[in-house]
Amino acid sequence: MKILFVASEVSPFAKTGGLADVTGSLPKALGKAGHDVRIIMPLYQCVETGGFTIRKGRKGLEVPIGGRVERGMLRQTTLDHIPVYLIEKKEYFHRPHLYGTPAGDYPDNARRFAFFCRGVVNFLKRLDFRPDIIHCHDWQTALVPAVIRYEHGDDPFFTRTALVYTIHNLAYQGIFDREALLEMGLDESCFDIERLEYYGKINLMKGGILTADVVNTVSESYCREIRTEEMGCGLDGVLRRRERDLYGILNGIDYDEWNPATDPAIFKNYTAAALSGKAANKKALQQALGLAQSADIPLLGMITRLSAQKGLDLLEKLLPKFRAAKLQLVILGSGDERYMKMLSSYRKKGAENISIHLAFDQVLARRIYAASDMFLMPSHYEPCGLGQMIALRYGAVPIVRKTGGLRDTVFDARDGVREPNGFTFDDYTPQAFWDAVKRALEAYADRKAWDRMVRSGMKCDYSWEHSAGEYVAMYERALKKVR
Ligand code: ADP
Repeated sequence: MKILFVASEVSPFAKTGGLADVTGSLPKALGKAGHDVRIIMPLYQCVETGGFTIRKGRKGLEVPIGGRVERGMLRQTTLDHIPVYLIEKKEYFHRPHLYGTPAGDYPDNARRFAFFCRGVVNFLKRLDFRPDIIHCHDWQTALVPAVIRYEHGDDPFFTRTALVYTIHNLAYQGIFDREALLEMGLDESCFDIERLEYYGKINLMKGGILTADVVNTVSESYCREIRTEEMGCGLDGVLRRRERDLYGILNGIDYDEWNPATDPAIFKNYTAAALSGKAANKKALQQALGLAQSADIPLLGMITRLSAQKGLDLLEKLLPKFRAAKLQLVILGSGDERYMKMLSSYRKKGAENISIHLAFDQVLARRIYAASDMFLMPSHYEPCGLGQMIALRYGAVPIVRKTGGLRDTVFDARDGVREPNGFTFDDYTPQAFWDAVKRALEAYADRKAWDRMVRSGMKCDYSWEHSAGEYVAMYERALKKVR
């Protein structure tokens, strides 16, 4: 199959969260399975300065947007052997961040990503690669299926191409004022409840859901949850309408990329068979961060975007308890100003057992995964969650709220499972979260039993092997709809 991935972030080129992990690793797994996969993304400042080999030859790109034509360039790099096309437009993408600053989104995001999506549609016709599948991700690329179906509906070039749309996070929908229609070059007919209109505004994700041949999200539980009013973020009705074409496919992680046996960023490589290497990572991190050096004090890690979704209000309420308990807590996060301020003012209180880092730091992240005994994800909701999968791979036992993909990947002895790999809690309350932490701390006291749990976590298989096959099956179902 010929598959084109259209994404606003792809690891290692540009990453703000799990989306980039997925768009950087699923294409590789599909490539290994014999498919012809290519990727297209914007050429951000961080891609230009990131030390990647970007081919010099540039092709001009003319992008019609409504009545006007905007010019960009097309450049190319590779990810392993996969061609990665980069749409260059300095005015839109040469900025310090991908979508906005901690204070808020860039005000011209509608224009930026409309340019990108229309650039993709336009570029396709000039390429000697006619995809069987165009696979788009999240709101930033939702205009690709919408523009193809609304504006190129009869174009034979696209009629045999299946459009696939993946929702990585339903909370970010790309909602803009009605005036944005014009900026995005969309016809007034799109301002219709059957199209992009959404409570008097424009909703790009709605367009993606309605126009793609199949839609999926990133875990079975989240796929169920988003069809309920409570968790549907206002799109549950639209999703229920597409129920027959809606799938839940659990993300995987790249097991070569995330491997404590080979990870060059950590202090010492280790495997499940020789956990002493993990203890060395703990000691080295304690030393590097100025924490007391002790093998017996449990070290808890948390690595997260700082957004309300991630349970930071629960964490905030529990910080005094974490401070008073016999444990160490290392937090790495970046994101919303509100939580940056909250954590930065807590840091000033100088708790000796809590180390807070307000940054996006991929090396420190790996060191925390490797050093931690436990990993915290008290999410309010979680479409899939990769943090817990990486933590399992690195032998850090996850403590998570039972929601979305966390529910599908972390199993608590309390639920009578044969091989528990973590601790879970149900209610979104500080008390329920703290109870789970306490149970983990008690379990940690029996180090033999603890190491058994660490090992069974490290043996869980959340690689792409299985899920890539499910994507192929979904692509086949999508193709049947257009052929
Ligand atoms: P989301 O996509 O909602 O942010 P996921 O758990 O799916 O959450 O994926 C998060 C990814 O981003 C993981 O690879 C995690 O290690 C990484 N990450 C999150 N915050 C940071 C940070 N501050 N520094 C480095 N990596 C981070």
